[in-house]
Amino acid sequence: MAKSAAIFLDRDGTLVEDVGFIRNPSQVMFFPYTIEALKMLQPHFRLFIVTNQSGIAKGNVTVDEVERVNAFIEEHLRNQGVTIEQTYYCPHNTEDGCSCKKPSPYFINKAASLFDIDLSQSFMVGDHPSDVEFGRNAGIKSIYLLSGHGQKHREELKGDETVLGNILDASHFILSTVKNEKHE
Ligand SMILES: [Mg+2]
Ligand SMILES: [Zn+2]
Repeated sequence: MAKSAAIFLDRDGTLVEDVGFIRNPSQVMFFPYTIEALKMLQPHFRLFIVTNQSGIAKGNVTVDEVERVNAFIEEHLRNQGVTIEQTYYCPHNTEDGCSCKKPSPYFINKAASLFDIDLSQSFMVGDHPSDVEFGRNAGIKSIYLLSGHGQKHREELKGDETVLGNILDASHFILSTVKNEKHE
C-alpha cells in the first residue's frame, strides 16, 4: 500500500484562537474557516495536531485539562466529518531539555514511523517560528500563518518559508501544489 502524506497542524493560533493556556473546552474558539480548511485537506492527507503545552510544566494547566481540551477539539472536528489521527503535545518547559518540544522533530518522526507517512509529500502549518523550524528539522515543507501569534513573531522567521494569512489560505496553497505535481 502506498504511504500516505500528512499535514502536521499546530493547535493554538492555527486551528483555534490563541487565548493563552486553555484549561477548559468552553475556552476553545475555532476559527470560522477551520472546518472548511481541514475538509479540503482530508481527502489527500492524514491530519495530525502537534502542540507545545509548556503551561503544564509551569503549573498553569494540568495534563488532564490539556487532554480534555484536545479530546474536545478532536470530537468537535469528528462531528463535522474531520478525522484527526493523533494529537501530540509536549508538556515540558524549554529548561526541561526534553526531546519532544517543537522545534524538535520528535513528533513528526514518531507519526511517520507509526502511520507510515511519506514525509516528502507532507506539510507543517503553524503560527510560530518554532513551527516552521519543527517542519524544517523533519525535512518537510512548512507554512507560516499570520493568524494567532503569526503577525507578532514574523520578524523572527529565519527561513524562506511560505507565509500565508490563515489555515484556509494554507489549504488552498497546499492543494494547488498537489494538483500541479499530478500534471507533471
Ligand atoms: Mg500556535
Ligand atoms: Zn517535551
